[in-house]
Amino acid sequence: MIRQLNYCLAGGLGLLSLQACKAPQPDATAQQPNVIYVFPDQFRNHALGFWGQDGFRQKINFRNDPVHTPFLDDFAHESVVLTSAMSNCPLSSPHRGSLLTGMYPNKSGIPLNCNTNRPISTLRDDLECVSDVFSKAGYDCAYFGKLHANFPTPNDPQNPGQYVENQKPVWDAYTPPEKRHGFNYWYSYGTFDEHKNPHYWDTEGKRHDPHEWSPLHEAKKVVSYLKNEGNVRDPHKPFFIMVGMNPPHSPYRSLDDCMEEDFNLYKDQPLDSLLIRPNADITMKKAQSAPYYFASVTGVDRAFGQILSALKELGLDKNTIVVFSSDHGETMCSQRTDDPKNSPYAESMNVPFLVRFPDKLKPRVEDSLILSSPDIMPTLLGLAGLGDSIPSNVQGNNYAPLFFDEKAPVERPTGAIYIQNVDGEKDTEGKVRSYFPISRGFKSSRYTLALYIDRKDKKLVKSLLFDDEQDPYQLTNLPLEQHKEIVATLCAEMGKQLKKIDDPWYQERILEELIPYDE
Ligand code: CA
Repeated sequence: MIRQLNYCLAGGLGLLSLQACKAPQPDATAQQPNVIYVFPDQFRNHALGFWGQDGFRQKINFRNDPVHTPFLDDFAHESVVLTSAMSNCPLSSPHRGSLLTGMYPNKSGIPLNCNTNRPISTLRDDLECVSDVFSKAGYDCAYFGKLHANFPTPNDPQNPGQYVENQKPVWDAYTPPEKRHGFNYWYSYGTFDEHKNPHYWDTEGKRHDPHEWSPLHEAKKVVSYLKNEGNVRDPHKPFFIMVGMNPPHSPYRSLDDCMEEDFNLYKDQPLDSLLIRPNADITMKKAQSAPYYFASVTGVDRAFGQILSALKELGLDKNTIVVFSSDHGETMCSQRTDDPKNSPYAESMNVPFLVRFPDKLKPRVEDSLILSSPDIMPTLLGLAGLGDSIPSNVQGNNYAPLFFDEKAPVERPTGAIYIQNVDGEKDTEGKVRSYFPISRGFKSSRYTLALYIDRKDKKLVKSLLFDDEQDPYQLTNLPLEQHKEIVATLCAEMGKQLKKIDDPWYQERILEELIPYDE
């Protein structure tokens, strides 16, 4: 860019010609970095070994889980690592909608988890997804693993006119080519939880049942793609790869769910040495899942490591941006809830976010960027030098400049919105035709606030307010009326953001006595 600018000025063309000067980039795609985005499902930020290491420990105020994540630990030393990436609507499909479109669940088309009971929740065909943009910029785009962003239809390629599974409602889905948003290589499924018996439909719609623990199988397929076995990609094009690993994900109850070698690391440890968060209740039945959960984390770490070592072997590591994040977290007996996600608690909302771009990003821990799910798409495009191609309707922000330079003049977000929706009205067949926005909240650098409303009169029925600085394990729910100033400040920010994203709470002025929408 600087060279082009000099050329333009030397040519006496002046600043107005900058746009024109941008155009002639000889063999531009050869310079473009590759991008790999890996996101397992219920992987909480706390389940990373490096947070206990010097240089990382000082940037957080919680104790990390006692997990073995050697590959991610090494990767963290080479990456920009965020402390505060948030899954705004910490549930499978809504997060995926935001990740793909850069929009909040009220605009992505996916306000609720996708299944056949919910025709209102499916990825919008008309939106330009992150993969559409990469594809238009000359990338080969490949998707591996769990997608869970489509309303399932009876389109099983092997059984015409049938759904891909028999259970009702149908959750799993086949994604036909016209719904793949620029991905020209496909090895994916909707959602399915037999971790050692996964299945995938490939680019041509052929089904594969590899009988292998899914993250390791997907890593193998990604490595094969990187090596271009079978001539599956154009080696002259840059690539954009997304890998949606399902584990760690329930069930976590037997060696059908994780690898034995990983389970052996945790099986003999007493539960109180595994579930070390002071807000965890080890008397819960679910506590027995802890060794399986952490074994899944370690297995995912190894699968990720296999992708990294293939990149290195192939000499692709230098010009490849690699991101590791997740769909949302896992409460795992914290806060005495059986729901692993779908709550504003740190274990549910706070996700890993690590970005490696050798020689371009200086490794560091970034503890003052609260990243939201819709920010990921524009930020990925920005990191790849495609900031100018971010679709104008994207609601998230491109924070790539802050990854390149922590002093970049980019305004940092004051916090992240929390979103929980539930089924709204149903038709005579029991199909969900609307969603009800039962909770909204705001996670600032210091506080977490969530407000819940009654389904009938939309009045406040419950609130959560935590001082995450003083009370990192969110043990004390502060009463709103005793913390009026704090609530007013948080609600002011929340109102501003809900208005900006045109959320139903803004449209209906829900709880306007608390939330100033129009100031
Ligand atoms: Ca999920």
